[in-house]
Amino acid sequence: MKIAVLKEAPGETRCAAVPETVKKFTALGAEVFIEKGAGEGASIADDEFEAAGARIGERSEILEKAGIVLAISGPDPKTLKGATSGAFLVGALEPIRRRDEIEAYAAAGLEALAMEWVPRVTRAQSMDILSSQSNLAGYKAVVDAASTYGRAFPMMMTAAGTVSPAKVFVMGVGVAGLQAIATAKRLGAQVSATDVRSATREQIQSLGAKPIFVENVAGIQGEGAGGYATEMSQEYQKAQAELVSSHIAKQDIVVTTALIPGKPAPRLISDSQLATMRRGSVVIDLAAEAGGNVEGTVNGESIVRHGVTIIGASNLARTLAADASALFARNLYNFLFAFWSTEEGKPVLPDDDEIVKAIRLTIGGKVVSERLAA
Ligand code: NAD
Repeated sequence: MKIAVLKEAPGETRCAAVPETVKKFTALGAEVFIEKGAGEGASIADDEFEAAGARIGERSEILEKAGIVLAISGPDPKTLKGATSGAFLVGALEPIRRRDEIEAYAAAGLEALAMEWVPRVTRAQSMDILSSQSNLAGYKAVVDAASTYGRAFPMMMTAAGTVSPAKVFVMGVGVAGLQAIATAKRLGAQVSATDVRSATREQIQSLGAKPIFVENVAGIQGEGAGGYATEMSQEYQKAQAELVSSHIAKQDIVVTTALIPGKPAPRLISDSQLATMRRGSVVIDLAAEAGGNVEGTVNGESIVRHGVTIIGASNLARTLAADASALFARNLYNFLFAFWSTEEGKPVLPDDDEIVKAIRLTIGGKVVSERLAA
């Protein structure tokens, strides 16, 4: 089995393989071919890949007769000529946004597998690219906010007087939010957090932060469907807005991470609420790509409104390219290894497997994903 690892398009720093996963694939009997310079953004030199057992080549060389193509972001279908008919294309393929490209993968005879659609079941945890990348993003959000903030995070008692601790408020306590809480605590901030799912209350407390919850209208009981939130009622949104208004004026840093699958990000902070914050405060909006949780957020940019910096954070995992690549590459390996048949020397994906059903977009020249059809 020949596995091809693509060099990503400009702007994407991560790489879909690292020397460790090259060794693991080689141990399974596969041959790994890395496109020249694919590891550059993640600080991995071609010769490190070679030392791990990979071969380096131009795209046309690495794709020739490849049975598996690994990528971080979905590649341009026109650049994938040479792979075998039925070859797997595995990565974060963004099926909803890139519908035309998915059709083109089908037409090219590729079996496209969208890793962001791995279901949240226990056996798939080690394959979950959303979790591995969100965790890093939650950490980096706090580090970026701290570096922008013109004051210190921890309380310091010095001969010249006392520095007060920063007050950090995390809105949305999924994978990124939990890591943001943990990071802000490590830096010595006073941390509070909120979510619509009641199961997060205990998680917030276990990290030593203060839960701030809407009490008079019921939120989502327990984890919510598949761990995900849904859109909240108008009554809940109104109660949440009142809660935020009373809390936010006392905060120095706000990290927002709230997402609802398949929907624009919920609006959690209005411009008038922002105006109540102290000058020099920092709001970092991790939902910027999905429309933002904060009124006025610009995706990928830092702007100042009412003296408050709003960072429209876009794909922060890319700014930790080495770690993000290592985790992403392991997610890909774990997926392929889980289905690897030693007799056939390649992965075999059963049609009735819940992971396969969830992530398979195309096979046999057709788009077959039920989610895409819906
Ligand atoms: P996400 O990125 O979809 O959303 C981030 C958070 O925003 C969620 O906690 C969500 O409840 C919250 N949110 C949505 N709307 C909100 C609103 N209006 N106000 C406040 N908060 C709002 O979530 P995620 O990080 O992908 O994780 C969601 C859950 O799934 C977590 O509990 C996580 O532990 C769980 N999970 C389970 C597995 C598994 O394999 N079992 C894997 C990954 C994550």
